[in-house]
Amino acid sequence: MALIKCENVSIGYEGQMVVHGLNFEINQGDYLCIVGENGSGKSTLVKSLLGLKNVDKGKIVFDDGLKQTEIGYLPQQTDVKKDFPASVYEVVLSGRLNSRGMKPFYTAEDKKQAWEKMDMLGIRDLAKQCFRDLSGGQRQRLGIARALAVNPKLIICDEPVSALDVSIRAQVLNLMKELKDKLNLTYIFISHDLSVVHHICDRVAVMYLGRVVEIADKKQIYENPVHPYTKALLSAIPMPDPEVKRERIILQGDVPNPADPPSGCHFHKRCPYAKKECSETVPPFVTVEPGHQVLCWLAEEQQS
Ligand code: SF4
Repeated sequence: MALIKCENVSIGYEGQMVVHGLNFEINQGDYLCIVGENGSGKSTLVKSLLGLKNVDKGKIVFDDGLKQTEIGYLPQQTDVKKDFPASVYEVVLSGRLNSRGMKPFYTAEDKKQAWEKMDMLGIRDLAKQCFRDLSGGQRQRLGIARALAVNPKLIICDEPVSALDVSIRAQVLNLMKELKDKLNLTYIFISHDLSVVHHICDRVAVMYLGRVVEIADKKQIYENPVHPYTKALLSAIPMPDPEVKRERIILQGDVPNPADPPSGCHFHKRCPYAKKECSETVPPFVTVEPGHQVLCWLAEEQQS
């Protein structure tokens, strides 16, 4: 059974639907990256996965062995800073409370777990320092220790490297991968940038205005993208080899208001291939090859 299964999940925000009919699952050991621009619904989905926001339609099914309180959460570095301007040790310890939604009362087990995770991350020496004195890389190691403090099976990583310098970013991503293999963790990694997730994940889900428009194994997404939006995102990634040219696809118009998305296919106002039916009817989620699904009328036509 899947660790988490989203079945036709729709979620509202301030009275308007911002996530529409999501269907995907994540198995033990997966590294799933969810990619999308601001307004794609990523953050709302994260809140519901963490139990901080109700689902309005459909359901999120958790495996019997997975409690929501055992899901680790690794936020952007800036969120850690906002949370708790205290000592490093207290920040790690607070991970235990955050997950249980409790008032500050620490058990001996909480303290033991916090020290263990600091040792694992090699940050015991920082324990007495104040959080605000840490470097960007140290802060994110601290964030990882805090996420691990609940002994999670699954960690939701919410743009964890977007605020870091490129050099530190690689270190943190490598550390996360090491820990994943060592502790048999499952990751859901949220990002707005397909270039960041290229080297780390196994599967990629691309979201646009509250819908998953394409989901596939990493190789399928990067080598054989089908949805016009995924193609546009990939065309914006700089090529490391200056001899290799890739045609940049410039999307027209701005991202529409997520609370009032266009009818039919949400992407139709910016899609270079849009036709009449795209604005009238929601396209089907088509399986174009095993494990590769696309929400687009073009994919449907190619299949028939
Ligand atoms: Fe473009 Fe139509 Fe496909 Fe939407 S359904 S991505 S508008 S071709």
